[in-house]
Amino acid sequence: MAHSRPLLILIILGCLAIGAPAAAPSSKAEYLELRQDILDKVSGMAFDGSMSLTQIEATLDEKLRNARDDYIRTARHAHTFEPHKYFYEWDLEELHGSLLWKVMSSLPKGSALHLHSGSSGSVDWIVEEGIYMDGGHVYWEDDDLTRCIEPIGGQEVECGSSGTAAPLIKGTMAFYPSNVTVPKGFYCAKSLDSSSSSSRDSGSDFRKQLRSLLTSNESLKDMDSSQAWEFFNKIFVRVGPAMSFRPFYFSYLINTFQVHWDDNVQHIEIRSLVGTNGLGDLFDFSADGIRVYSGDDVVDTYRKALEQFQADVTPFFTMKLIISSLRVLDPETIEGDVQEAVDLFTRHRDLIIGFDLVAEEDPNHRTLDYLDVWMELLKHEERLGLELPLYFHDGESNDRNNTNMIDAVMLGSKRIGHGINSYFFPALFDQMREQGIVLEVNPISNQVLRYVDNLELHPVNGFLAEGINVVIAADDPGAFGYTGLSYDWWAALVAFQLDLRSLKQLCNNSLEFSGLEGEELEAARGRWQTGWDAWVERWDSELS
Ligand SMILES: [Zn+2]
Repeated sequence: MAHSRPLLILIILGCLAIGAPAAAPSSKAEYLELRQDILDKVSGMAFDGSMSLTQIEATLDEKLRNARDDYIRTARHAHTFEPHKYFYEWDLEELHGSLLWKVMSSLPKGSALHLHSGSSGSVDWIVEEGIYMDGGHVYWEDDDLTRCIEPIGGQEVECGSSGTAAPLIKGTMAFYPSNVTVPKGFYCAKSLDSSSSSSRDSGSDFRKQLRSLLTSNESLKDMDSSQAWEFFNKIFVRVGPAMSFRPFYFSYLINTFQVHWDDNVQHIEIRSLVGTNGLGDLFDFSADGIRVYSGDDVVDTYRKALEQFQADVTPFFTMKLIISSLRVLDPETIEGDVQEAVDLFTRHRDLIIGFDLVAEEDPNHRTLDYLDVWMELLKHEERLGLELPLYFHDGESNDRNNTNMIDAVMLGSKRIGHGINSYFFPALFDQMREQGIVLEVNPISNQVLRYVDNLELHPVNGFLAEGINVVIAADDPGAFGYTGLSYDWWAALVAFQLDLRSLKQLCNNSLEFSGLEGEELEAARGRWQTGWDAWVERWDSELS
């Protein structure tokens, strides 16, 4: 009996907290009215709740929803619904011939806001064209982890002698002019290609094998995330030395711009590794040996590539950079890298929009581990009278103990890359909505790297319903073996069952939450609107 009073109080408090039950509807009509109120509330709360449609858009919306639902119904019945399957098991030939693919690939998507240097362009360009540039070589023997090369210059060094020395694994690409010593095991790409057997339809075996070493594949399906990352990191080891060679990287950037422009993307933002201790340095061969490009010269390489593309192809394509370091590094190094980012941001305000830390989250440093760095940054910003926007990669995890999302929100991250495990932290949602924080959602990347299996069950579905804004992005399309954004947008349409209002909101988000500002943003909005209006008109007449 001694415990009966507290229990009674708890019961009373419980009743008060829950409130009185709603009165039962007195008729079927009243029930249906109340039910509709709930549905209206659900759609009003969603991320696209305030988006309106014009008359023609409303007509197209109905046709698009019908086409979407037709596909979903038919594919589910035939057990061919792609979002249920691993990306490398999708029937791409059938997809490319489908109506919804045509709709989504022609959609003016606005911006691609989550890309990385080294995986933003086409792997097919690398194996069909890029590696045959003058001096292109490939390490084409068994992996030898006892030997390493330095990405800058491609020469052999003792493993562990620097933070950038990389082990020799089959498929590593590097450039050597004729007067430079080529490390044992590297062969000229042109000779490897011409001496390999080939067929007219699928090219040489060398090209096929190299492509498979530079992309993830179906073998990752049975792995967990950390095994998938191990496989995935090797791709970056293989492309690293070639991506450090400035002429190759310059051409790769041009290819990156072209594949996005061809996919109806008008603006991209690349997380570019630039930092102290040689992080992200580029090089070229000169009469005196090697010329190294760091900091400003790396940024200048992006600027020149963009200017060339704007002059040769279209003045309407734009790009911004998010200077990035690696969360594998210690706080002292990150402090130096943040300082470097502030300096570069001050000097290149037209191109650089902020800072990020990249790499697999769970096994590496927490965002909180660098708290001293962020506190110092705040003081530094006060002294300089400027703010370096943060674009943290956080929440790429399904681990409750990964609390990086809390720091990303508290530190005022402008956008957050991924945010998958936000479902553990709904207490952040109000603040995210108030601060206008947007999640960069990369559906296929999340599935390939084993954070999500069935794309229909991607946690973003819940975030969208909670009114959290997102943008659709592709992360590392080159390393996943595709280009542009259409696969991710198509997956979002059918897996998240989006409608035209959602698509319009997502396109708008991709510009409004980009690093574009002022006149540049105004011009981008205008160009997107023209493309959107034409797209709406086309599909309103072509869809029945
Ligand atoms: Zn990423």
